[in-house]
Amino acid sequence: MNAIVLLPRHHNGGFFQQEECCFGKFARWTPALGMHAATWLRHRRGARVAFFPFNVESAEPIALPPADLYVLIFTWGYGLDLEPHVSRWIAEGKNLSLAPNPFGGGDALRAVFGETFDLFAGGQSPFTADLPLAIDAMPDELWPEFRVVTHQVATGCYWHCHYCPWASRRHVNRDPVLAVKELVELLHRVPTAAADRTGNSISIFCNEVNTDQRWLNEFCRLVTPLKITWISDLNIRTATEAQIAMLALAGLREVTLGIEFLEDAMLQRLWKGHTVEQAFGVMGWLQQHGIRYRFSLRSGVGETTDDIARLTANVERMRARGLRPQRISCGPMAEWPGIPWMPKEWPRVNIGSEKFPRWTQRLSDEVKAAWKPLLGRLKQEGLT
Ligand code: SF4
Repeated sequence: MNAIVLLPRHHNGGFFQQEECCFGKFARWTPALGMHAATWLRHRRGARVAFFPFNVESAEPIALPPADLYVLIFTWGYGLDLEPHVSRWIAEGKNLSLAPNPFGGGDALRAVFGETFDLFAGGQSPFTADLPLAIDAMPDELWPEFRVVTHQVATGCYWHCHYCPWASRRHVNRDPVLAVKELVELLHRVPTAAADRTGNSISIFCNEVNTDQRWLNEFCRLVTPLKITWISDLNIRTATEAQIAMLALAGLREVTLGIEFLEDAMLQRLWKGHTVEQAFGVMGWLQQHGIRYRFSLRSGVGETTDDIARLTANVERMRARGLRPQRISCGPMAEWPGIPWMPKEWPRVNIGSEKFPRWTQRLSDEVKAAWKPLLGRLKQEGLT
């Protein structure tokens, strides 16, 4: 079987962006997911695999090279731009399969796209734990377009946050020996990373890099001698100072913390599983060990004006303790239809026939007014 993994580009500047926005993060999934999809096709289906890059912003029809199967990578940032191309390919009778995001399964995609697509790998992430990545399938001429080395080393998540489509998916880490060997190979292929090993040009995709202590020990043991610097995500619930010290030595320089709402009652309602005090403790350790951190504050999660008042007070407490996040992104929670954990009483947007989930904002005027001073101040300080 001949299979082609379609790699969507955005903007004209190149392939995979590393921007200071959500889209930048989602775009970084693309190469990781593409690699895993190609690996899965090669080893599980015995397919001959190729990559096909295309610009989603192109108004011209895009002619696909012949193949038995085309795997489409889906990330939030590409959704709407992809649609005209995809509709055309469907009309042409192309055998398209849609790959879910790197961390989870396809329930949310199924809810959005219905039966339009076959979901790749039965709707599961094509992540593989111990098969060699199909790095060689990427043609040499495409490597210069990569701006970031993105290496996915885990899938799934242990936790059960209410709003998250990846919650309680079986967490699997990639074999650390293989993961680090491949990281070295990727570093040699991606020119920006090879030229600048001190920036944030290496992104290790692992939902929670500190979830499995034994894996973490081995990964850090192997990565530390490489003397590279990288970014990842860290789970507050389980983080310890010893882990953070070890990660700092292994080159971790920036993490995203899944805080979402810096207020205990709301954190409980979201099933986040950590407290504000725990978050402050982890921020302090990160600072001590020279690791930058960022987090998001989410609106549209059922918050009341009292919740926002307590959140605002906690942001002040954070400052008073000398805790200095690199960035606090503020915005409405993405609502994925089909998220089983979202409490029924929360207001829903009827997405009707829309093909793509919208960022939704369903706040009362009172709640909006309560958010305003905090958002204004964070903006003024250049934090958001
Ligand atoms: S810890 Fe992160 S990935 Fe896991 S369920 Fe919660 S939000 Fe989702």
